Amino acid sequence: ATPTSIMAGSGRAAEYGILFKGGEHLEGAHLVDTVVLDKTGTITMGRPKLTDVVVLGGMDETVFLQGVGAVEKHSEHPLAEAIVSGIEDRGISIRAAEQFEVIPGYGVRAIVNGENWIVGNRKLMMQYGLDTETIEKQLIDLEEAGKTAMIGAVNEQLAGIIAVADPIKETSIDAVARLQALGLHVIMMTGDNARTAQTIASVVGIDQVFAEVLPEGKADKIRELQASGRKVAMVGDGINDAPALAAANIGIAMGTGSDVAMETADITLMRGDLTGISSAIAMSRQTMRNIK
Ligand code: ADP
Ligand code: MG
Repeated sequence: ATPTSIMAGSGRAAEYGILFKGGEHLEGAHLVDTVVLDKTGTITMGRPKLTDVVVLGGMDETVFLQGVGAVEKHSEHPLAEAIVSGIEDRGISIRAAEQFEVIPGYGVRAIVNGENWIVGNRKLMMQYGLDTETIEKQLIDLEEAGKTAMIGAVNEQLAGIIAVADPIKETSIDAVARLQALGLHVIMMTGDNARTAQTIASVVGIDQVFAEVLPEGKADKIRELQASGRKVAMVGDGINDAPALAAANIGIAMGTGSDVAMETADITLMRGDLTGISSAIAMSRQTMRNIK
């Protein structure tokens, strides 16, 4: 590509809040045939809200929320922030916890008032030998509504369910349609459970989903697609998306996301609006056409 056509292309892109790290990415983006979108903070707003609290086995709701809040207070996960503010909004004060531990992709644990608390997904409960069969119906109902349901247990007893909902960005449906109109194959990738992911995917018009992908597994998924001959753009906002952004042919970060994602990515969408992806790819195709 000529330096002039690239400069013209990236100048135009910048007007749309699309920042290319180097001219080679403006050239490279036209080869992409597959776009992998992270769910939380990329397709959705990344501002989850606590929506449901269900207590189990005679547990007192306030005691349950105090325990859950104490554990989540130590976590920096967006889910944890949503849970903690939802609990505080209910006028419940949050106490201290000890021996806090993160189990990435699964949840968190800590000691609260001498009791052993765990909060996380089914896989976390399974790790602690807890059967979730009796609450499966309740979990499924929440997940089919597009919510992320998490389970709390105290001293190896199921204590309750909490669910959060993260609204879909207004622009996501249009953004996916535009990518598909360019002939691109669009996939959603998330650590969240398959049912929640499928609900969100259906709303935005995505038919392929990689769900329950552990943080370290995201980059592997990108490499698998590449091994099958795909040229992949990965779009994400989180620290745990960074390895996948680096592995992709083109990494695209949300300007609204973590610094690590932006540092790793080739392109940043300053406005966090996914319609920027199709604009970037269309511009790249245009730039390459002007050169030929
Ligand atoms: P995502 O791609 O959604 O950021 P993660 O790998 O961070 O996925 O998390 C996957 C799943 O692990 C979440 O959907 C949730 O069920 C569980 N989880 C992670 N962190 C927490 C937490 N702090 N509290 C409860 N559950 C958690
Ligand atoms: Mg994310």
